[in-house]
Amino acid sequence: MLKKITLLSLILITLNSCKEKEEKSGDDSNPPTVVKKSKVSKKLFGYSLDNFKVVKDEIKRGETFGTILDEHHVWTPKIYEIANSIKPDFDVRRLRAGKNYTILAAKDSTEKAQVFIYQHDLVNYSIVDFRDSIYTKSVKKKVTTKLKQASGIITSSLSQSLDEKHISPVVANDLSDIYAWTIDFFRLQKNDRFKVIYEQKYINDTVPVGIGRIKAAYFEHVGKPFYAFNYVPDSITGIEEYFDDQTNNLRRAFLKAPLKFSRISSKYNLKRKIAFYGRIRPHLGTDFAAPVGSPIMSTANGKVIESKYRGGNGNYVKIRHNATYTTQYLHMSKRNVKVGDYVKQGDVIGWVGMTGNTSGPHVCYRFWKNNRQVDPLKEELPAAKPMKKEIQANYLTHIAPIKKELDAIPY
Ligand SMILES: [Zn+2]
Repeated sequence: MLKKITLLSLILITLNSCKEKEEKSGDDSNPPTVVKKSKVSKKLFGYSLDNFKVVKDEIKRGETFGTILDEHHVWTPKIYEIANSIKPDFDVRRLRAGKNYTILAAKDSTEKAQVFIYQHDLVNYSIVDFRDSIYTKSVKKKVTTKLKQASGIITSSLSQSLDEKHISPVVANDLSDIYAWTIDFFRLQKNDRFKVIYEQKYINDTVPVGIGRIKAAYFEHVGKPFYAFNYVPDSITGIEEYFDDQTNNLRRAFLKAPLKFSRISSKYNLKRKIAFYGRIRPHLGTDFAAPVGSPIMSTANGKVIESKYRGGNGNYVKIRHNATYTTQYLHMSKRNVKVGDYVKQGDVIGWVGMTGNTSGPHVCYRFWKNNRQVDPLKEELPAAKPMKKEIQANYLTHIAPIKKELDAIPY
């Protein structure tokens, strides 16, 4: 299966410390998320806590389900029985150091554990109840959503601007998705600025657990304004899209680049001179440099018409989008599609490499319009489906107060 890439994983690797912030201190007024062996609310997942001795703790390195229950006076044969009987639903070997758990133990002198509650993350828990019959179940904390605002002036990058304000990198990622067709996030200018209204998810209305959708955004790039409003133009499909303040769809039939993080190392150039001979040899592609292994995306929906290794091209894929447009991607380390596959915009079709004729890792991206290679950076690329006339008035009424709110956010 082809996967649409979200660069979340990339961002989480590079901005790991930031994720921590998002969960633990996204909101200054938060109580600590981990309350150890101290007061807890009266009920927990339906258990009246007054009826138990409650122990909250964190799994230490080297601890297991067995050692924890043993410490709470459950005898070994019983531990095996519990582990075996719940195994299909909850494999206790998967417990991980650093995760929180709660033991509900008998209030009498035996202090024997009766219920084990494992916290996978801030939302998801597994309950193992072995008071009488043994059973396990998964439970989720209720997640609520509040709208939040953010804004900033770019000094170096969008993710840095957001990071400085302790806003989740997910917001930067989502913004770059929304504007993928209109703004080249690798060529942001100093003094470019943005405002955003987004959903922050909470448990217990206080502990932040993630980002929901971006409701509206404003981006000013080289002095030009770009609005984006989340809207569902067709209630039957329910698909959310982003439109600007003039009802234009922000999506284009083609992405600006086949890579999410890259820089252009060589442009389409009909007059490029070859170093050795001083001869002119045009470069009909656009080179995007990126580390080996970076995922390469199909820039539009289409059908794979070539996928092979050949000479100077190395590993390459060619995709026919319609009667007018065809694109090609060269020098891959590995291909991810075969001839006949139907790919969607954003699908990973291969990974950056340096096969064939190349001096460094990059994708040579070639773009055909009516069988002639053209410069995609200079093409007026076709827009995605426009908004239907009959809903435009509704849309404009819908966004009017949101736009006002957006405009009022200070930098
Ligand atoms: Zn090239």
